Amino acid sequence: MSQAAQMHDLILAGGTVVDGTGQARRRADVAVSGGRIAAVGDLADAKARRTMDVAGLVVSPGFIDSHAHDDLAVLEMPDMLPKVSQGVTTVVNGNCGISLAPLRADGPQMPPLNLLGQGYRFGSFAEYRHAVDNGPAAVNVAALVGHCTLRVLRMADVARPASGSEIEAMRQDVEQALLDGALGVSTGTFYPPAAAATEAEVIAVCEPLTRLGGIYATHMRDEGDRVMDAIDESLRIGAALNVPIVISHHKVVGKQNHGRSVQTLARLQDAARRQAVCLDCYPYDASSTILRPERVDICDRIMVTWSEPHPEASGRYLEDLAREWNCSRREVAEALLPAGAVYFIMDDGDVRRILKYPDTMIGSDGLCGEGRPHPRLWGTFPRVLGRYGRELGLFNLEEAVFRMTGLTAMRMGLRDRGRVAPGCHADLTVFDADTIIDNATFDTPTEMSSGMRHVFVGGVATWEDGAPTGARPGRFISDRIGVAAA
Ligand SMILES: [Zn+2]
Repeated sequence: MSQAAQMHDLILAGGTVVDGTGQARRRADVAVSGGRIAAVGDLADAKARRTMDVAGLVVSPGFIDSHAHDDLAVLEMPDMLPKVSQGVTTVVNGNCGISLAPLRADGPQMPPLNLLGQGYRFGSFAEYRHAVDNGPAAVNVAALVGHCTLRVLRMADVARPASGSEIEAMRQDVEQALLDGALGVSTGTFYPPAAAATEAEVIAVCEPLTRLGGIYATHMRDEGDRVMDAIDESLRIGAALNVPIVISHHKVVGKQNHGRSVQTLARLQDAARRQAVCLDCYPYDASSTILRPERVDICDRIMVTWSEPHPEASGRYLEDLAREWNCSRREVAEALLPAGAVYFIMDDGDVRRILKYPDTMIGSDGLCGEGRPHPRLWGTFPRVLGRYGRELGLFNLEEAVFRMTGLTAMRMGLRDRGRVAPGCHADLTVFDADTIIDNATFDTPTEMSSGMRHVFVGGVATWEDGAPTGARPGRFISDRIGVAAA
């Protein structure tokens, strides 16, 4: 059938296509049929049920949030406004060792598992997948299975290394999760439930990755004084398993370590000649996670994001509370638990260096459940495009888009996504490259970004003319492709 005779569902006409591969932009129309991109080029003679004029705007692949903690959010707030409003069409959940499955409903709610919120627990990865598909949400969902979660499920005491039988149980859980569609395994040996896990335990538990394929993503044991040791451990684990590694939200924390991204990136670049290793990163010099009193001394400024016993502390600085309560910052932190916090702990020079590294994907690490979230939840992608790309010139538009689309799909093994090309899923984002910018700040953390015009998931608009449509066309993505380990 000729191009002219075919009736497409949609044509985005007259836009500038930035196709997600890093290649130079070009003026082209994009046709969508049956949820896939049908044609890219001069489609003046083609017909469609609907044609949208996108002249002057960029048409790019929908953004893939490579580092999400939206495991529960996609079920409880399926409109997913914080992400849709930024142009995100797919989230990768289950990062940092934390996944909602497999867990027992009556199991302990220990930190950091509570970062995902309370309530839903799924006995198997398949149950989680069904819940996502039955939702569904406005975004597609891919997910990792978390090692912290498996330890909480399988061990009566997580403060020690796992026994042989516990390792075997977790290994079988990983195998089943991969068969049920997990993208890989995440670890969070930084966090108390997994801090006692040895390197050998992680390798043994992750063994099914080698046979079945999948990625190894890690919130490393240390991002401060011992960051190089932590990188070396991650590289050894990836090499032992012969699987690709993702170093999660790469950063170097603590004033004495500012500038050390020169060393960490050199080590990673060298390793990348022998094994597959990449990074994800969010574009801010403050981190956010659970509040840990034993860590308050490594950082001068800490903002409380939520506190169960003291909800009124949300948005307040620990040092101000210490003055008012007439006690130490550490005592305040103890009194606020369980709680979450933003740590102003990084150097912007390191953030820029890591963002610019050739194999860095963009990931928000945003937490939807927080009363007062880190602004990365609402601002990550427009901030990379507007601030770090357009204003600071860290990279051009094509490269910025590549880091949030094509690179991520390639490293995560997401089949037929992350590119504007015939045959790919019609996950598309249309934005104004001259004005796109984040507006969320630490003081106004849920302010929506500017410049996002339309967003499509599988060809269905989730965001149109700068407003949500309410459509929820997202799917659980399980059609992963093998990613070479070296
Ligand atoms: Zn993490």
